[in-house]
Amino acid sequence: MVPTPTTSPLSDKNRLIGAHVSASGGLHNAFSNAENIGANAMQIFGASPRQWSVAFPNSDIIDKFNQIRQKSPVKKIFLHASYLVNLGTPNEELYQKSIKNLTAHLKIANALNAEGLIYHIGSYKDTTPQESYHRIASGMLQVLKDAPGKAHLIMENASGGGSKIGITPEEIGEIFHLANHPQIKVCIDTAHAFAAGLLETFTPDELQQLTNRCQQSFGLENLAVLHINDSKAPYNSAKDRHENLGQGHIGLPAFRNLASHPYLSSIPWILEVPGFTGNGPDQENIQIAQSLFAY
Ligand SMILES: [Zn+2]
Repeated sequence: MVPTPTTSPLSDKNRLIGAHVSASGGLHNAFSNAENIGANAMQIFGASPRQWSVAFPNSDIIDKFNQIRQKSPVKKIFLHASYLVNLGTPNEELYQKSIKNLTAHLKIANALNAEGLIYHIGSYKDTTPQESYHRIASGMLQVLKDAPGKAHLIMENASGGGSKIGITPEEIGEIFHLANHPQIKVCIDTAHAFAAGLLETFTPDELQQLTNRCQQSFGLENLAVLHINDSKAPYNSAKDRHENLGQGHIGLPAFRNLASHPYLSSIPWILEVPGFTGNGPDQENIQIAQSLFAY
């Protein structure tokens, strides 16, 4: 058994609890949106998530972004990729468009000095998962070559269903090892893990089993960030439906256990919840997340 690395508990000040926030009207606007809900980390779309064409922000916007950042309590920034990309696809045209689109988003992540670009790994359609792993690995290497810089390219676990890739740590590990690149990292979304049947009760034992599997599959230190979402969809349903913390099938006791896990509590938490008024992650959800650590 490979030992699981642990980290020393973080003080409240250093704990990173953030959310996906809007960057409409200019990427620099994301800071006030994050600060207004009490987030000290944030995730944004660097460009429209529903378009193939990517507008690189002008230098004025990037300057403003970097200036505001210096005084902002928001310490870590992640970008989320477009929903259109699929690196697992056997369709050559879609594959090439996906590489191009991810490259453009990763260039923005580099310009903003973001931690990384989180993307949905993809699906294998009518080919085999094994063939798909190879396409994904070489696609990621191409993206990293075409967008040189420091930002990580972060694979997010899937909720299952269809021919989705990246449901288990072992599957993500296969791709991770095929690509074998230091800038490739992993994100686990709690709602996806629950819907995929990877996590059910979030007991300390279950969480430890998960981190052991991550350690063996790709090295726990490469699990860089968590998406913290409750689930509107039941356990093992393979459906991706996010819910506010405590309002879904996962529930607050589960998230409290997550907050007590030495490693899982030490990496940034990013909320992608619908919000209590339906306007996206809000102060109430951030405060609920913060309160989990009081136990
Ligand atoms: Zn997510």
